[in-house]
Amino acid sequence: MQDWTIRCDVLVVGSGGGALTGAYTAAAQGLDTVVLEKTSLFGGTSAYSGAAVWLPATAVQERAGIGDTPEKARTYLRAVVGDNDVDRQEAYLATAPTLVDFLESDPNIEFEWRAFPDYYRAPGRMDAGRAINPLDLPSAEIGDLRELIRPEPDVDRAGRSHPDETLIGGRALIGRLLLALRGTGHADLRTGTAARRLIVDDGRVVGVEAVTATGETFSIRADRGVLLAAGGIESNAELRAANGTPGRAAWTMGPNGANTGDLIRAAVDAGADTALLDEAWWCPGVEMPDGSGAFMVCVRGGILVDGSGERYLNESLPYDQFGRAMIARGADSAIPSYFVFDSAEGGPVLPAISIPQASAEEHLDAGTWVQADTIEALADKIGVPSGTLRRTVEQFNGYAKAGVDEQFRRGEDPYDTFFCRPSKAAEAPNAALRPISTGPFYAARIILSDLGTKGGVRTDVDARALREDGTAIDGLYAAGNTSASLSGRFYPGPGVPLGTAMAFAYRAVQHMLR
Ligand code: FAD
Repeated sequence: MQDWTIRCDVLVVGSGGGALTGAYTAAAQGLDTVVLEKTSLFGGTSAYSGAAVWLPATAVQERAGIGDTPEKARTYLRAVVGDNDVDRQEAYLATAPTLVDFLESDPNIEFEWRAFPDYYRAPGRMDAGRAINPLDLPSAEIGDLRELIRPEPDVDRAGRSHPDETLIGGRALIGRLLLALRGTGHADLRTGTAARRLIVDDGRVVGVEAVTATGETFSIRADRGVLLAAGGIESNAELRAANGTPGRAAWTMGPNGANTGDLIRAAVDAGADTALLDEAWWCPGVEMPDGSGAFMVCVRGGILVDGSGERYLNESLPYDQFGRAMIARGADSAIPSYFVFDSAEGGPVLPAISIPQASAEEHLDAGTWVQADTIEALADKIGVPSGTLRRTVEQFNGYAKAGVDEQFRRGEDPYDTFFCRPSKAAEAPNAALRPISTGPFYAARIILSDLGTKGGVRTDVDARALREDGTAIDGLYAAGNTSASLSGRFYPGPGVPLGTAMAFAYRAVQHMLR
């Protein structure tokens, strides 16, 4: 007989956007809910995020008057992802409006639409995007919970300090969900507590064995179900190698050492099947002075070359497609690649956003960036053939003058120019093509990073964990990066990681209630 330390209705493992949505769904309906978070802080990678949430055709898009409809969203999703997993796509789309209504019925939660284009040129696309974001959260409203939310990457990963008057992005999402959860009076929120084993009774998952940061082991029984939303395998070098997941644990954007696939392993031990374990939400990473990766996004200038000194992609691609192009080019040649830029913005200013950021001086001191007065000298410093790099830059400058990138069509998709300053047509007919002509010149080392892996436990429309034979494991549910994503090998638009995590966590708990 198992001796239970704690008993609850719903147990949620992890504390990102999916986990807390699931926990709130349970607690708001009066179920006693326990949340276990392994680290000392709530929020995981979700707290680092921009908190764009791809939940299409909800009341929020309607308030914004952007003309999104379920049909349009379906057309787009199907065109991008294909029709492999139609049932889960339908469940996702059907859940989006209901979930947003449910969350917004809590006084602590409100979303707004913010422009950020969908990522693929496909029917049903919204050029200015359809993702919604939680409203920023003034620190005064979050009170003592603020100290328990994972800080933004600049603070958490790069050791900088920032005034924190208002929580934005992922911190606002986590903060709002925590406030809402606390308001229910039915949530027991625990940091510093890792789930390490699922407890199975007669084929049903009935609880977990957990361990505190001080090594105390205890068991929790969950009468309705256990929801695993504890991230992917991104920070586990061994599991990445075993599954052939490109990139490195040291380069991921997941919080240091947090998401090590513990619950994917535990679910497999309990009989669950897995899929897509070689997949991630890819992005280019600016190599940081300490060897970690920083998410490079919103490119507005510069070019990328591999070890041969040649371009091999449209540098303005959405980050996941950028990462996929690096993988396709091959690790030997393209990882690292070099992002070549000039001083047009007034010195060593990377023409893109780096999350987190190191200063140019720190990069130049560490050698992750190099500087030279000529393109040839720059090529020598990074070890690529100087004649090739010069020709690449000259050719690109010709494209910039003409306004047409004959190789990679950069600047022809609305996403490409979304982050660029409007061009003065006569000087720069294509805002995404800025010549590289103002010395000194710079090259930044670019590695393959990810925003979390996206393979894991195979699940059904209600997020129930499935065995290899397709039957569901009673009592066990998975969402977010602990589950195999319905978006497969695509990243359709901003907010799909969080949108899917939240939608399926909600569905999991609704299923537990049936
Ligand atoms: P996480 O949010 O990482 O949460 C997992 C949690 O589980 C962690 O806190 C971890 O400590 C905990 N955990 C792990 N093991 C255990 C255990 N054994 N016991 C208990 N707890 C455990 N996505 C979007 O959709 N929209 C965006 O705008 C967006 N912007 C991004 C911006 C940045 C800078 C980054 C880095 C990512 C961004 N992403 C965005 C991606 C997205 O944030 C992640 O893919 C997603 O949040 C992952 O959610 P998750 O719940 O699976 O994992």
